[in-house]
Amino acid sequence: MVGKSLRVYLETTATYKKIRNYLDDNKMQAFTYQLKEDKEFNVVLHGMPADMSPQEIMDDLLVLGISPSYCHIMTNRKTHLPMPLFLVSLPSNEDNRNIYNISEVCSVKVTVEVLNKKPGPAQCYHCQGFFHNSRYCSKNPRCLKCLKPHMTMDCKKTLSEDPTCCNCQGKHPANFLGCLNNPLNKSPPVDRKKVQEERLAERKEMLAKLRKNSSPPEKPNSAPPKPTSVAPKPPTTTAPKSHSLLYSKALADSLPKKTKPLVKPPEEQKD
Ligand SMILES: [Zn+2]
Ligand SMILES: [Zn+2]
Ligand SMILES: [Zn+2]
Repeated sequence: MVGKSLRVYLETTATYKKIRNYLDDNKMQAFTYQLKEDKEFNVVLHGMPADMSPQEIMDDLLVLGISPSYCHIMTNRKTHLPMPLFLVSLPSNEDNRNIYNISEVCSVKVTVEVLNKKPGPAQCYHCQGFFHNSRYCSKNPRCLKCLKPHMTMDCKKTLSEDPTCCNCQGKHPANFLGCLNNPLNKSPPVDRKKVQEERLAERKEMLAKLRKNSSPPEKPNSAPPKPTSVAPKPPTTTAPKSHSLLYSKALADSLPKKTKPLVKPPEEQKD
């Protein structure tokens, strides 16, 4: 049991499939993780008119020897209006990799690009939860813009109305990267072991310097560095650059701008 939910770890693919089918057949609220063998890659088709049917695109790709598993129109993150861009998911195999060589789909000239991945963990379009894909989610739908249990496309909220996040009740859509309930902002994306190693290396370097100069240190401090001083430092590793910047920014935003005195002035305490 994890909190209010039950987590099941399965040993074989067969049992995974059985359980996934059972969940679907009984319309149970659950999500499952994607199997390694089901791993897919996503591309974006540019050049198609926004009113093109995703099914037609999938059918035409099949004729070209490419077997997509999913195709849907992409929407603008701010306006939620459809854009002339189609996201295509494809199982990872050699034939499907040929999609990068395609220049025409449904008699329309197209360019195929790798999808720019959003930083942070995967977020479900269906329930707005994290770390899973909407295609393996049978939980109740939750709206991106309001607290009602419906699909975002069925939402009656207009652009002039403030969105409400179903993950934190804040005034932003549920996919806002700065949402405090986004795991991206809950814990530093760099793993603890790495941080510890980096700190150890820093300390060793400092000690070596101290021995060299044999002058007393200004402040022998072993406490973790403040987030504000971390942000401008160039990262030693390339991978979590945007993550750490986003994290420190969100942290800085969440910190109170002004600190009020906690103790009342002594005059007020007299009489
Ligand atoms: Zn979900
Ligand atoms: Zn809604
Ligand atoms: Zn939120």
